[in-house]
Amino acid sequence: MSIIYLDNNATTKVDPEVIEVMLPYLRDYYGNPSSMHTFGGQLGKAVKTARQQLAALLGADESEIVYTSCGTEGDNAAIRAALLAQPEKRHIITTQVEHPAVLNVCKQLETQGYSVTYLSVNSQGQLDLNELEASLTGNTALVTIMYANNETGTVFPIEQIGLRVKEHGALFHVDAVQAVGKIPLNMKNSTVDMLTLSGHKIHAPKGIGALYVRRGVRFRPLLIGGHQERGRRAGTENVPAIIALGKAAELEMLHLEEATKRERRLRDRLEQTLLATIPDCEVNGDPTQRLPNTTNIGFKYIEGEAILLSLNQYGICASSGSACTSGSLEPSHVLRAMGLPYTTLHGSIRFSLCRYTTDAEIDQVIAVMPSIVERLRALSPFKNDDAGWLQEQSLVVSQ
Ligand code: PLP
Repeated sequence: MSIIYLDNNATTKVDPEVIEVMLPYLRDYYGNPSSMHTFGGQLGKAVKTARQQLAALLGADESEIVYTSCGTEGDNAAIRAALLAQPEKRHIITTQVEHPAVLNVCKQLETQGYSVTYLSVNSQGQLDLNELEASLTGNTALVTIMYANNETGTVFPIEQIGLRVKEHGALFHVDAVQAVGKIPLNMKNSTVDMLTLSGHKIHAPKGIGALYVRRGVRFRPLLIGGHQERGRRAGTENVPAIIALGKAAELEMLHLEEATKRERRLRDRLEQTLLATIPDCEVNGDPTQRLPNTTNIGFKYIEGEAILLSLNQYGICASSGSACTSGSLEPSHVLRAMGLPYTTLHGSIRFSLCRYTTDAEIDQVIAVMPSIVERLRALSPFKNDDAGWLQEQSLVVSQ
């Protein structure tokens, strides 16, 4: 059975061209770029080219790129750097819908004497900029907000946010792990001070990411050791992965316009057909300010995990907004922050496309989903019973 991979917000397939450019640096050119001999030292040139390729995707200067091991490291490094650079300030602003790579750092910082404001979102997952303005003070060291939400695809108005942040003299970090390669970026005309990205979301391998740090922003490294990355991230460079990320960035630039158009068309066709053929379902997230590749649909009265298992039998890979932890059902913090009713919260599924997604794959999902939902609803004791479902779910959650 072939795989229909619609879980590209979780991770992506490495582009074959990326594998090709990476291989010689695994097999033949294994030197250390910091070495004095030519065998190692020559790698510096290849790393420089890769850095230029990545900088071009962001509209940044190559000197503003700091390689990391993943998006999580980029988020951690940016938050720590902002606080270390301004030790007199003890307040951070973020949102309730961030990735755990930001949320859990903020939670830990609260135990270390920092105060954190978690901005709320409305039912479409959007922020209220008045709430942001009211939260900003002279004590605010950092505002850290995602560009696009990984679960719903909702895109935040980053530059409007940045203008307000700058008026109050705080640093502005953006987790753009889901936005890079899907939204054109230009750091030259931006209010963003630091921006996180991750290779494995843009058809590069896992184990490589980058943090953009605007020139002039005071930066303190998370990893301390050697002088790699101009003293901003110690550790021998992951040369094959850096080369791969450079190529992946070049390909993202090349494909961005045409791929996003195509993904939006396929996503809209999938979404509209499912909404038209399956009763009691709705799209979660902002209908217009949204990533072109993502749809998150809530199917009432059934469990997302059951839908995923059924899709899995057809080789279809998607994801649910909820995670099953220690026997009790814990719905997604993002969908909960949006105030979705329990009837929808538990049955939400995310389909995330990429440039490899085909019409035939979308046809297959459209073909199987109605019968999957119908079968699961027939087994559900809560079909058309919002009150009963609500009561049962509160019992499960409060256990
Ligand atoms: N931030 C967002 C918005 C993400 O979606 C992810 C990964 O899903 C991360 C951060 C973490 O990235 P990584 O898996 O590279 O650590």
